[in-house]
Amino acid sequence: MTHTGRCHCGSLAFELDGEIAEVYDCNCSMCRRRGGLLTFAPAAALRETGSGTPGTYRFDTHKIAHHFCTTCGIAPYSRGTGPDGAEMACVNVRCIDGLDLATLKIVQVDGARF
Ligand SMILES: [Zn+2]
Repeated sequence: MTHTGRCHCGSLAFELDGEIAEVYDCNCSMCRRRGGLLTFAPAAALRETGSGTPGTYRFDTHKIAHHFCTTCGIAPYSRGTGPDGAEMACVNVRCIDGLDLATLKIVQVDGARF
């Protein structure tokens, strides 16, 4: 199925293909502050449909572009390269329209070394 989602103001909107059954709650230095719940997908499964241009934040290895809305500050998605070199997208499922978070399995990820 195709999910839709957006930042708070709607400047950054997106479509994401695929089923979402489990999501990741990461404790790295950024995620524990930001508080997103994450799902990963091949880069092509994420289509940016909003009119806004995202801001971009990088840290540590700088391999992941963490995008955020420069108007409302919400960070709906990131793009980067996976361990195998494949282009990946990461979506904060809290930004997906109508997704019942209570139905998702939340997997704790120990990213604290980053
Ligand atoms: Zn926004």
